[in-house]
Amino acid sequence: METITHWIGGHAWSEPPARFGEVFNPATGAVTARVAFADAAVVDGAVASATAAARAWGRSSLAVRGRVLFAFRDLVERRKHDLAALLTAEHGKVPSDALGEVNRGLEVVEFACGLPQLLKGEFSESVSTDVDSYSIRQPLGVVAGVTPFNFPVMVPMWMFPIAIACGNAFILKPSEKDPSASMLLAALWAEAGLPDGVFSVVHGDREAVDLILAHPGIQAVSFVGSTPVARHVYQRGTQAGKRVQALGGAKNHMVVLPDADLDLAADAAVGAAFGSTGQRCMAISVLVAVGDVADRLTPRIRERIRTLRVGPGSDPSSEMGPLITREHRDRVRACVERGGAEGATLLDDGRDVHVPGHEHGFFLGPCLFDHVTPDMSIYTDEIFGPVLCIVRAPTYEAAMGLVNANPYANGVAIFTNDGGAARRFQHEVQVGMVGINVPIPVPMAYYSFGGWKQSLFGDAHMHGREGVHFYTRGKVVTSRWPDPKHRGVNLGFPQMT
Ligand code: NAD
Repeated sequence: METITHWIGGHAWSEPPARFGEVFNPATGAVTARVAFADAAVVDGAVASATAAARAWGRSSLAVRGRVLFAFRDLVERRKHDLAALLTAEHGKVPSDALGEVNRGLEVVEFACGLPQLLKGEFSESVSTDVDSYSIRQPLGVVAGVTPFNFPVMVPMWMFPIAIACGNAFILKPSEKDPSASMLLAALWAEAGLPDGVFSVVHGDREAVDLILAHPGIQAVSFVGSTPVARHVYQRGTQAGKRVQALGGAKNHMVVLPDADLDLAADAAVGAAFGSTGQRCMAISVLVAVGDVADRLTPRIRERIRTLRVGPGSDPSSEMGPLITREHRDRVRACVERGGAEGATLLDDGRDVHVPGHEHGFFLGPCLFDHVTPDMSIYTDEIFGPVLCIVRAPTYEAAMGLVNANPYANGVAIFTNDGGAARRFQHEVQVGMVGINVPIPVPMAYYSFGGWKQSLFGDAHMHGREGVHFYTRGKVVTSRWPDPKHRGVNLGFPQMT
């Protein structure tokens, strides 16, 4: 069986691992590979290689970096079906979803290709007599990214194209559940001409992450994953003096007002709740039906659920694949069980789904609850599976109160035909990413991605301008090239004249 190992200094790490994990095909339940788990020697090796590479890369011209980025962009474009196939094999998402993920990642590479524009500083001539001032942004050195299982290509690509374009060396610790895509990305970087050591991959579990957080050679850590781990990463990393951005979990609401186009809302709710089997941080997990909406919208949602085809990504007719692991599938099943016990009405129960020929796959069909109340665990907990909860709210104000009281604040959507209500909503809602008749409002690469409250620890969102700021340090230079005249020593505070 293949052992997926680390990528350090431009080649695969040759030492046999002391610890490793198993990689599954979630559609069949079979183990397909082993993945090496890093220990201190591996992380030290990656940091040493990255440190050596960062010096020269940070000094390389924007023209040189740009050429490598353009070459990488073309290679990813050419190999995007191979990347998508790896996602289907290890994550389980259906091909259209997998390809969509690669394309959204590619957008950040394209944004990074234009980075010289964003790295431009400011210049003020003659701020004082013979004195000019200008600002520059410089790379941090060695930075690391720790990423979740649900987007093994896109989420790392929120980070490394920008970090590398800014002149840093980047160490990726991908999820141990679907590690193969990161190896193909490393090979593509090498083919694009990126110097050895500028991009490394270190596989592993929490031990590898804690070694990264403690390592004095790493200047900054970007993290995306669940809220408890995001909090841990932020606390540990900042205690160790690092710059940290840590994006956490979510419980995204979709508010539907009585005047909304209910067919549009039903299509959107089903796509956003059950796409990727509900394993998206921007998935809709709560539908807030305002006024009399629930009784009119629910039949439309159920009609669409009935036609959803659950199956493996290898079958082109499948629309919804398996969950990532057996344990996760069982945890989501238990959440559904609890929801019923707590008094919610289970309108559609996906627990009895049967996928012929894939009896050992980690499948669960779409589940729809009505009459969910905010005290129920299916409302308070992030389920991260194909479960949509309908909460009935009497008014817009009650719906807004519900959204703003939630501790998570990643994404939110409102469906309405009333522009004034939508405008009021975008202003009042305390959530990082807002959709108006758009269920999954993932920002384009040139805006920044990130939530508020328990969905983000740290100040900087990912990619866009905030990404550039995260991976660089600002410096202001004040320079004097005087006519050769000297005014003598002055111990007073420098003033511009
Ligand atoms: P996770 O938190 O279990 O793992 C994320 C990463 O942290 C992995 O690389 C993992 O190896 C590592 N890790 C796990 N436990 C750790 C620990 N105790 N200490 C240190 N490191 C640890 O998340 P996941 O299950 O891979 O991904 C799903 C979660 O990610 C969901 O909560 C989802 O909402 C969230 N997510 C958030 C966003 C966002 O943008 N806010 C995007 C995608 C996913």
